Amino acid sequence: MTKTLAIIGGGISGLTAGIYALQAGYDTTIYEKNSMVGGECTGWNRQGYHIDNCVHFLLGCNEEDPLNKIWKNTGVLSDGIKLYREPYFYCMEMNGKKIHLWRDIEKARNELFSIAPEDEKELALFFQCVKGCECIQPPCEISPAHMNPFQYMKMGMSMKNALKANKEYGKQTMSEFVSRFKNPYIKALFGNYFNNNFSALTFVTSYAFYTSNTAAIPEGGSTGMVSRMIQRFTTLGGRINYSSEVKEVVIDRGHIRAIILKNGKDINADNYIWAADPYPLFHDMIGMKFMDPNLKYMYDNPAGYEANTGYQAAFGITTNERLELPEGSVIFPCEEYIIAKKRYSFCGMRLYDCDEGLFPVNKRVIQCNILQNADDFDYWAELYNDKAVYESEKMRIAKELKERLEMQYPQLANKLVLLSTYSPVTFNKWCNAYKGGYMSFNVLKGFKSKYVKNTIEGIDNLFLAGQWLQNSGGLPIAAVEGKFAIAALIKAGR
Ligand SMILES: Cc1cc2nc3c(=O)[nH]c(=O)nc-3n(C[C@H](O)[C@H](O)[C@H](O)COP(=O)(O)OP(=O)(O)OC[C@H]3O[C@@H](n4cnc5c(N)ncnc54)[C@H](O)[C@@H]3O)c2cc1C
Repeated sequence: MTKTLAIIGGGISGLTAGIYALQAGYDTTIYEKNSMVGGECTGWNRQGYHIDNCVHFLLGCNEEDPLNKIWKNTGVLSDGIKLYREPYFYCMEMNGKKIHLWRDIEKARNELFSIAPEDEKELALFFQCVKGCECIQPPCEISPAHMNPFQYMKMGMSMKNALKANKEYGKQTMSEFVSRFKNPYIKALFGNYFNNNFSALTFVTSYAFYTSNTAAIPEGGSTGMVSRMIQRFTTLGGRINYSSEVKEVVIDRGHIRAIILKNGKDINADNYIWAADPYPLFHDMIGMKFMDPNLKYMYDNPAGYEANTGYQAAFGITTNERLELPEGSVIFPCEEYIIAKKRYSFCGMRLYDCDEGLFPVNKRVIQCNILQNADDFDYWAELYNDKAVYESEKMRIAKELKERLEMQYPQLANKLVLLSTYSPVTFNKWCNAYKGGYMSFNVLKGFKSKYVKNTIEGIDNLFLAGQWLQNSGGLPIAAVEGKFAIAALIKAGR
């Protein structure tokens, strides 16, 4: 008899799990809290403009990338889907100079060497390490948490070119990394993109995703990729129940008997996959004693495992004219502003216009995304208790960012309209995301990466998927963990 499977959460992980489950013969239904699926990989329309929340870059866009197969199998990518490759990771504009971390690494090397000959040695090392990190790929065949020592070693060997980067930068924060350089432009370029406490290796690796070309933006952006996944899932016979938040899990002697929705309805299935944020599952529903020790360790050690989130403001450009503006992501110094009691003297913005279908010339969008962490989340959550104060604080910051954009790009004066502002609380409300996290835990200096199993010790028919099972998270981890959850289900003979 066909086995039934209930997947809780219709984000990228739940959708991926659903597609792999249907292909393995399970009768599969997704239960999603919201009235749409996609989770954090989402977008919305305001005043005729589109705001793409998520996909700044999707890894696995090279044909030979192991991840590419998963994107093809889930419908995200196919031969007919265009890929946009922005020319640089990001650019810094300062004192009339523009400095780019070009996708073309030779071009970047030449540009940075000419700006900072005094840093030639450190820059040469940096570019060598970036090149080495191009081999880094998320594991796509077996979950690292379930690997045997031989498989684990093999995974390490496949990334041996990144060893030098790991040795040089693996134990350095961004501040320490920046202090290796003398030139003020190079210091500003490297010192104002990520937070100071981030690992320098994360930075080097992120840039390598561009130089290797694995990173691209798929046609249709976040909502485009999700709609193609929905189509693949439903064509295979999958069902989606929207506005179906799971509030309770009925467990009896190590077996899940039912899940109970917010509307009180009981759902019974042979097996369950939890593809939503894991914290409420363990903390509020089945008990912390079932939590994988690695996951528990990360929640218990916030000094080493940080949930990162952001404050964002999106602006529409109100002209049919194609104003001259920098493409993609840019940072620039600006008059100081304050968010969550912290002072910022740089502004980060991203111009959305590469996908004409989403952003036609008269509907280009600029988004400012200011990185926030778990402490900032607590600040915003406190503010949210008084909705009027919360809203006015979001608006105050948006106004200040707009002024800074207009100061930097005078051609934007009177041509920006505020479309949307959102805070770390938004993602907590939208997806139940722990501390409003955009990705999963970011590993900080002195702490090691952790992998979480798809199986739950002591429960036979509940499996885990989702980005939180590996550090850094993101779309690739969400997808591979969806696939791994089905592998674990099959391996368990269920
Ligand atoms: C602003 C932003 C930018 C990003 N940019 C990138 C990027 O450029 N590249 C990249 O790779 N990644 C990016 N990410 C990260 C990426 O979006 C996430 O890693 C990924 O979407 C997570 O997928 P997921 O399925 O694991 O979790 P989620 O997206 O959180 O999906 C979980 C789903 O479960 C639902 N749910 C939660 N609780 C319940 C419940 N009790 N019952 C039923 N349903 C429930 C939620 O509503 C949600 O739909 C970004 C994220 C954000 C927020």
